Amino acid sequence: MEKKQFKAEAKRLLDIVVNSIYTNREIFLRELISNASDAIDKVYYKTLTDDSLVFKKEDYYIKIVPDKKNRTLKIIDTGIGMTKEELDENLGTIAKSGSLQFKKENELKDGYDIIGQFGVGFYSAFLVADKVTVITKAFGSDKAYKWESNGVEEYSIDECQKDDFGTEIILNIKENTEDENFDEYLDEYNLRHIIKKYSDFIRYPIKMDISKRRLKDGSENEYEEYVEEEIINSMVPIWRKNKNELTEEDYNNFYFEKHYGFDKPIKHIHLSIDGTVSYNAILYIPEKASYDFYTKEYEKGLDLYSNGVLIMNRCPDLLVDYFAFVKGVVDSPDLSLNISREILQHDRQLKFIAKNIKNKIKKELENMLKNERDKYEIFYKSFGRQLKYGVYSDFGAHKEDLQDLLMFYSSKEKKMVTLNEYVSRMPKEQKYIYYASGESIEKIDKLPQTEVIKDKGYEILYFTDDIDEFAIKMMMTYKDKEFKSVSSSDLGIENEEDNQTKTDEKENKKLFEAMEEILKEKVKSVRSSKKLKSHPVCLSNDGDITIEMEKILNSMPT
Ligand code: ADP
Ligand code: MG
Repeated sequence: MEKKQFKAEAKRLLDIVVNSIYTNREIFLRELISNASDAIDKVYYKTLTDDSLVFKKEDYYIKIVPDKKNRTLKIIDTGIGMTKEELDENLGTIAKSGSLQFKKENELKDGYDIIGQFGVGFYSAFLVADKVTVITKAFGSDKAYKWESNGVEEYSIDECQKDDFGTEIILNIKENTEDENFDEYLDEYNLRHIIKKYSDFIRYPIKMDISKRRLKDGSENEYEEYVEEEIINSMVPIWRKNKNELTEEDYNNFYFEKHYGFDKPIKHIHLSIDGTVSYNAILYIPEKASYDFYTKEYEKGLDLYSNGVLIMNRCPDLLVDYFAFVKGVVDSPDLSLNISREILQHDRQLKFIAKNIKNKIKKELENMLKNERDKYEIFYKSFGRQLKYGVYSDFGAHKEDLQDLLMFYSSKEKKMVTLNEYVSRMPKEQKYIYYASGESIEKIDKLPQTEVIKDKGYEILYFTDDIDEFAIKMMMTYKDKEFKSVSSSDLGIENEEDNQTKTDEKENKKLFEAMEEILKEKVKSVRSSKKLKSHPVCLSNDGDITIEMEKILNSMPT
């Protein structure tokens, strides 16, 4: 029997890797920086396990060097480097990950910081380069090697000179084409932007020489150019820091830095969860709704990172709709990423995190309502409507999660109250939770129908938001108490004057009939009412839909 190896058309494979996995050219830098970070991590790991070695933090860094004149971009690291064999294996074999192997050999558990696993990231260099040169010297070796390829057919490996261990990757940036500008990968400002976007939380410093201008010594109008090395990334993500080390201002700064809003967040939630799925998260509850919050344009979601590397901005699957106002980041080492690190392979972990996060937000809002009522009311002004939409959506499936977060204006307290507060002070004989709908508190106050109920000493909740009545119709009951509109014909109020109404009805039969005739187009019937006190007349309805709801339904586009 003859065994044969599969042959792959390397050129085609490379082409597929380079052009179809990644949707976005700029990620080449994320990939090369991730590799550099992995390489330093490996040195770090070696020093941890070998007493004869020390890891001096300042010796380890990544440096990005653009050179416009020669059209090259260098990515330099002081990591573990590669031997000749490793160069051949890792860069000569597509889909071979030396990093994954390292993790396995050293039995590093999931959650260790090493990022690499698929063995294709390196080739993304060919998205922007027509030639890639790698100069590398392995840790503990005295020989350095140069690997070179134009990404088409072949690569070469030669011995070369390099003083210290580590790796230097030199990209020959492609010439601009008619529809693509490659110059931007040589531009300091743009490179800084890409680094900040994807690699801000890489644990080692990413340095770059930044050209600057300053006034010449002693001169008032003559400038001189100079360069200064800067660290571009912030390194330790705020969510990995200890809560006690962070101030309110740190959290607020991060909120602004991330452009989550112009307001000050009303609350932040910092989570460090260790469990089936581990993750860190910082979540913000904003104070004000952004101008587009209640529109279709608004995109909900949390920024998703895996080991400090950005996977996706505003990942919608992490947030339930009714908490769409929450902003923030989630970082989990336990996500199964797909090869491009762009889309997630399985959503089991994601679902788990999303559910967890939902419960944390709910708890936080409940605590705020309990302990910081003023703050909660400010929040509720901005986002109460969203919570009520939540109650209404999915046929009331989220009732349990949301009902205790709702507030309405109370006729009795003259302020916002919760349903629980309402129910807990209901007199024994009161059957229903009464509500009245209208445009404003003032208008509802003047509704004739509210009088009898108020007279009875019962509290009425004022519904001034379109969604209010729809939401509670979906809820049906709260703590087994039904909701009842003050305009419904049966208010469930015992009334001694019941007989009186009957006689009224009889005596005035002719009058009512005459009125019905005149108002034929406008009302179904005219009856005597026991709900009136100081007002002569009111509108009432028997059906499920109240007059206010009808108004809204009628105003909706069909
Ligand atoms: P991955 O990072 O998923 O393993 P890559 O294609 O990005 O795949 O890299 C392939 C392998 O090449 C890495 O696993 C690593 O062993 C090696 N490698 C790449 N870049 C470097 C570097 N800067 N220093 C040391 N080794 C590197
Ligand atoms: Mg990689």
